[in-house]
This record gives sequence, structure tokens and C-alpha cells, in this order.
Amino acid sequence: MSKIRVYELAQKMGIDNKELMAKLQAVGVEVKNHMAVIDEADAKKLTEAPPKAAAPVKEVAKEEVRVTSTIIRRRPKAVEAEPPKPEEPAPLVEEVKEEKPEPVAAAPEEAPAPPVVEPQPAAPPAIPAAPPKAEEPQRATANRAVILGRVEIPGLQPKPERQPERRDTPRPAARVTDRPAPSRAPERPGAPRPQGDRPAPGRQERVMTPPQEMPSDDRKKGARKGKEVPVVSDTAKGAKKGASTSKKKEAFKKAELLEKRERIFEPGPRAKGKRKDKSLRMPEGRKTEITVPKAIKRIIKITETITVGELAKRMGIKATDLIRNLMKMGMMVTINHPLDYDTAVILAADFGYEIENVAVDLDEMLESTPDAPETLEKRPPVVTIMGHVDHGKTSLLDAIREANVIAGEAGGITQHIGAYDVELDGRKITFLDTPGHEAFTAMRARGAKVTDIVILVVAADDGVMPQTREAINHSKAAGVPIIVAINKIDKPDAKPERVKQELTEHGLVSSDWGGDTTMVEVSAKKRLNLEELLEMVLLQADLMELKANPNKQAKGTIVEAKLDKGRGPVATVLVQEGTLKMGDYCVVGVHSGRVRAMQNDRGEKVSEAGPSMPVEVIGLSGVPDAGDVFVAMKDEKQAKEIATLRQIKQREAELAKHSKLSLEDLYKRIQSGEVKDLNVIVKGDVQGSVEAVGEALRKLSTEAVRLNVIHSAVGAVTETDVNLATASNAIIIGFNVRPEVKAQGLAEKEGVDIRLYNIIYDAVEDVKKAMEGLLEPVFKEKYLGRAEIREVFSVPKIGNVAGCYVQDGKIVRNAQVRLLRDNVVVYEGKLASLRRFKDDVKEVATNYECGMSLENYNDIKVGDIIEAFEIEKIAATL
Ligand code: GDP
Repeated sequence: MSKIRVYELAQKMGIDNKELMAKLQAVGVEVKNHMAVIDEADAKKLTEAPPKAAAPVKEVAKEEVRVTSTIIRRRPKAVEAEPPKPEEPAPLVEEVKEEKPEPVAAAPEEAPAPPVVEPQPAAPPAIPAAPPKAEEPQRATANRAVILGRVEIPGLQPKPERQPERRDTPRPAARVTDRPAPSRAPERPGAPRPQGDRPAPGRQERVMTPPQEMPSDDRKKGARKGKEVPVVSDTAKGAKKGASTSKKKEAFKKAELLEKRERIFEPGPRAKGKRKDKSLRMPEGRKTEITVPKAIKRIIKITETITVGELAKRMGIKATDLIRNLMKMGMMVTINHPLDYDTAVILAADFGYEIENVAVDLDEMLESTPDAPETLEKRPPVVTIMGHVDHGKTSLLDAIREANVIAGEAGGITQHIGAYDVELDGRKITFLDTPGHEAFTAMRARGAKVTDIVILVVAADDGVMPQTREAINHSKAAGVPIIVAINKIDKPDAKPERVKQELTEHGLVSSDWGGDTTMVEVSAKKRLNLEELLEMVLLQADLMELKANPNKQAKGTIVEAKLDKGRGPVATVLVQEGTLKMGDYCVVGVHSGRVRAMQNDRGEKVSEAGPSMPVEVIGLSGVPDAGDVFVAMKDEKQAKEIATLRQIKQREAELAKHSKLSLEDLYKRIQSGEVKDLNVIVKGDVQGSVEAVGEALRKLSTEAVRLNVIHSAVGAVTETDVNLATASNAIIIGFNVRPEVKAQGLAEKEGVDIRLYNIIYDAVEDVKKAMEGLLEPVFKEKYLGRAEIREVFSVPKIGNVAGCYVQDGKIVRNAQVRLLRDNVVVYEGKLASLRRFKDDVKEVATNYECGMSLENYNDIKVGDIIEAFEIEKIAATL
């Protein structure tokens, strides 16, 4: 015989487990819980039992009161079977009854009842009798029966209140039609609720019967009822309207789960499988919600970073799912945590998405726009003057300029804007008037290649000097051709030939001597040969075929910038390609802006600046650095966005730069190439140990990291030591000494790592491990406070007791202490006692006096310091 579990049966019957258990108990089947197994026979009992019980129902008397013209209130009158049941359902019954319009008329409905009950074998005999008697009287129970019967439909019970207005709607009808069913209800006196299971056994038979006999009015209702029954069955169709909502819910849930799983785990490949799921979800008439975006839509564009929440939103998943994945990756983050590009890529890949870093693209777009050869036009050369100090760079620049100004428009008021252009035979030459190779190199360091030609000034009376050599090397490194201007030839002791000779030693051979370097003998002071020098520059420029496309958005380099009191940030831009126009938006380094005004070095307003033209621009949001790239753009928003992004990057870089070196992160920094030198300051109690520590540390130098002891001395760690450490990014190692209070505070503020040791081996070992990345969790000392010994009392049997004054922090009874004499540790251990007056106390705060004695140490002196500290374990973060 087949068996069935209680909960399964309950499910089948569409009722609650408890109800079913109560029912089973009523029919004499003992079950322990909903997992219990019962025989099918027992299950049948359930369905069979009712009919028997139905009989008493017949006896139910009814009381009928017409409440309004449309409402008849019928109350059941005490009958045998009644008492137990009415209690709970009663209120419902009344409600329902009142709501029901009288047309529903008990009588007509009674008719359909019999067939409904039919299924039960025992019922038939009982039922024939029922109609006549039970017509109305049954109402109460009937309603209950119905309601109970519908318990399976969770949504229904609460609904009645709403129903009344919509009488013609199916639901109330269903309730009305229920009336006929009553006969079943009373059957089981003991178990009021169990009726719900009724429908189950007789499903099929009942289906069609009611409608036929029903008056038109009620037909619908009957029909509905008819439908309702099959619902209980598992047919898919049944799930449709009157369908059990529990079924619906189940189906929903299933669909939702599927949906979720699909979204999370297999967005792409499941695209086709979707059909199947659809069929699954179809019963509820819901639309497919899972859509796998097209490949193109699965690309998420981010600008450098994106928050967890935003990424989840863009992928259409829950942020919690994303956070879970992040946790798997070892990142504990919140929804607002910004993810960098790399993390976002990995995360998104898990969900079938791709990440595109738009910010990077923008930058690239800004910085490289190749021009077609036909768009290029000749541009003036940009010249930088370099040379040894006092060889006449400034003089030469001024001379060239003045000569040109005088030659050109007389009376022009020249301004220093960092660059100027001169004209010779209708051709322009741009001079950067920030002489010296520092500026040249600084610009180069920023990636700005501005200079086309270098004029190397060498004084004829002085010859090649260190900076001359440096200038040659810098120019060569930058691949910029050099034109040598042998200056001061007016001087009597000028020896240009000697200069030429010396220059050959540096690979610059004059063209007179068969070399390829142009050398012009000039005198800045006497304005000799200046024009010739310019001609040579132009000649060189011709050789170089300097070209640029003037017909596009301008791009250039900042030559100089300052904050002007009246005009705000002012920057000299050397346009390198394109044409800068008034009103252009621009990005310069971390700043954006709009060109509000432009003027040249002669103070004239200009509205356009083409390639190789230096102009002073007003309208930037901040002062850029020399060497920053200037990019004009049409879109203000884009300009601002880029500037903001660059600001963020810069801030991050600065933050990284400012964090001081510590042993914990030493290895990481060594690995990243950030640290090549480990600077150490050693302070110790005696010269011998200072030397020993220094020596041992120096030996740790490796190829990758050189260890420099930049300062070592005897004595406490002072503020000066900390300042030195700050300036040279050094670590301080104290051997048997302590930092002064002020030094400690400063070190904390500046983030300087002060390591204190008592054993040389420990100090050396720690540094070694740190360099190898093996530094283990450290026990870091937490300073609690210090007290000065002002009086020493000799107490018989106890020894020396210190009368102290707490200067800073607090002294704690159980803390570790060390006795310092002139900032040198003379004892380290524990307190034997801590008292205020005669009482033992746990701690003594700043500015209070107390008595202290040290465990196993008696040699205390007035003026000694007792320092209290705790040891904390800190994981080394490597
Ligand atoms: P810088 O340091 O390279 O910029 O050199 P300066 O331009 O400041 O010149 C240094 C000194 O050399 C100044 O006193 C100038 O007057 C002098 N000087 C520059 N050019 C000449 C020149 O052609 N002839 C003579 N006699 N003196 C010059």
C-alpha cells in the first residue's frame, strides 16, 4: 500500500499541515508531525469520514432575519453537530453572509450542492435529505466550509471585506456558491477546519456539475466554483485564475530563483535556455524578466573608478551579490567603496560584463592625434639657450630680443612671459627665455619636448665649464641639435679657437673644422653677429623640416605660469600644434578653463595663436606647472572631467608620496622600486653600541637596497633627529635610549618610525627581515605616561620608594615600566607598588603625586623618570 507524508497530503489538499493533522486525529489517525508517513487508506479515511458526519448537518436549524432589502441574515441554530465548529468561523460566516446579496438565494444554490458532495461515497444518502432541510440553515456551516475549503487559497480569507462592492466579480460569487457545499462541513464535528481538504477527493466529479443546474445569475459563480476545484489539482491550466495562490506563489518563487541564478551565474550562455524558463513561468502569465543584454551593452564604461553600488546597478545585479564576490576576493567593502579599474574588470567578468576605462581613453585621445602629412605646415623653430653661468645667456637673450624689437616695431613694451618670438626676414624664431638646463630638463622630465634647437653659449674667455658639459649632455639626451654661440668675443682675452678645441672633446666639431656643428662667434654686449646666429638657427630649422598642423584644436605646453593679483592664474602657452583661439575650453594638467584673453610678449592682444607661438593665456582654474600639456577642446564638460580625474590621480600620488617610510612597509616599497636607499638614524646609550649597531646595519646593504646610516650619536632621540628623519625619509633606531617626549609627539605627527631595542641582534634582525619582507607581527609599545622621581624614601624591609609626580599621561599599576636616567634606560620591569597617600591605587593621572616602588630594583634616584607602557601586538603589514 502506498504511503504518503502528512505535509504532502496537506499540500495536495491545499491546506495547512496543522489542519490536516487535526483532521487526521479526528478520524483516528495518529501522526506525530507533518513529516510523519500515513497510509493511503488513512488518507482516504479523511475524505470518507466527512460524509458520515454530514448527516447531522441536516438537523441544523436556521434563523433567518432580513436585515435590509438585499441582505438576509441567517444564523444557525444549535443543532447536534454545530457547537464545536461555529466558534472560529462564525464571525467570518456572518460577514460573508451579510455581504452576500439575497439574490443568491440560498435555495437555488442548494441544488448544486448535492452533486458537489457526490464524490463521497457516503454522501449520497445523506445529501438527498440535505437540500430540503439544509437549505439555509446550513449557511453558517456552509460558509465555514467554504472558507475553510478555500483556506488553501491564502489570499482569499482576508479578501471578503473588499469583495462586497464587486458583487459580480468572480470571487464573491465563489463564496456564495459555497453555500451548497455546507453539507460537508458539519460532517466532521470534531474538526472544523479539515473540511478544506474536501475538495480533493471529489475533484473530477464535481467539476462540471454545478453550472448546469444553476440559475443564470449564479451560473458564473457556479462556474467559478467549478473551476476552483481543479485548481486544487495540479493541472497547469488550473493555476490560471481562481488558481490556488499558493501554487502561484510557488511558481513565482521558482521563476525568481531561476532568474536570479541565471543572472548571476550564466548571463551569456543561458540566453537560449531562456525559452525553457519562460515556459516555466508562463502559468502566471508573467513576462520574461531575464534579458541578457547584447554584447555591446555588456560593456560598462567607467572613468578610472566606480563604486560597488554603481557597478552593481549597471550590471543589473544586487550590490550584495557583488560584495559577496568581493569578499571571496578578500576585499571587505561597503556599497560606496570605489573600485579601481582592475578590480572592476575581474568582478565584471564574473557576471559576463566587460569594463572599459573611458578616462584612459580620453587621456590618450588628448595626447596623441596623428596628423596626415598633407595637413602639416611649416612652423617656426623653438630655441632654448643653455650654457654655463655667467657665460652670457641672459645677455644674449636680451640682445637678440632688443635688437629685434628695435628692428621691428619701435617702442614696443616687451614683457617677460617666459618666451618670445623674433622675426628675421619674415621668418619667426621662438625663444624660450628661461635659460638654463634645469628648466629644459624639468620640462623634459614631464615629457614635454618643446625645444627644437639649443643655443649653447660658451664664453670665449672662459671655455667649456661644468655646466657647459651638462648642457651638452642634456641636449644630446633629448636629441636636440646644438648651435654653439661663442660669446664675449669682444673681450681682449677671448680665445674662440680654444673653445672650439675644447668642444671637440665633447663631440661638437665646428663646421669650419669639417664637423657638423654650427658655431657662431658673437658678442651679446656689443650685439655682434646676432643676425648671423639667427640665420644659422633658421638654416638648422630648414634642415629639420619643422612642421605642424595649424588647422585643429590647439595643443601646447606651459612654459611659465603664475598667479596674477588682478588677472588670476596666468600661463604662457607655447602652442605646438593646432591653433588656439579665444573662447576655447582647455585642460592643463589638473586644471581646466576657458581662454578668456590672450596676449603676446609685446603685450598685444591676440585672438589666435598658431604653432610655435607663445601666448599668455588668462582663464584657467588654477596655476599649472611649467611643462604641463595644454589641450584645447570644444567641450567644457569633458575638459572639466579630465581635469577632475587628473586631480584625483595627483592626490593619490601625493598621498602615497607623503607616507613616511617604516620598517613594516619597507619591503613593499623596495619591491615597487620606490626605495633604493634605506636611511637610518642610530641613537644609543654609549658610543660603543652606537657604532656597533651602525656597523651591523651597514653590512645589511644589498644590491637592491643600500643602507645608509645618515646620523648616529649618543643620547636620547631628539626632535632634531625626528626632523632629520622626516627630511630624509629615515627610520630611527634607538638602542637603550628613549625618545624625548616632544620627539615622540613629533614622530607620531610626522609618521616617523622610531624603533627601540635593547639588543643589537634584535635591531639588526628586524631591519634585515624588513628588507627581505619577512618582518613578523610586531609588538608595539604603547606609551602610557611618565613620572618624575622627586623624592626617594628608604622604607625598612621594603626598600626604596619613589615619591613621584606624574608629568604626562598616567601611571598604571599593572603596566610595564622602565626607569630612565638622562633618557637612558637603567631598568625595565614592573611596579611593585603604586600608592596615593596610604592607599594602593590602580592608576595615577597627570599632575598627581604618588609613591612607587619597582620590582627587584632599588637603585632609584631623584630626577629619574619612570615611564609606563603597554605592549600591543600589531600585525606587520607588508
Ligand atoms: P648668464 O648667467 O649666462 O645669464 O650670463 P649673463 O647674461 O648674466 O652675463 C654674465 C656677465 O657677462 C654679465 O656681466 C654680462 O655683462 C657679461 N657679458 C655677457 N655677454 C657679454 C659679451 O658679449 N661681452 C662681454 N664683454 N661681456 C658679456
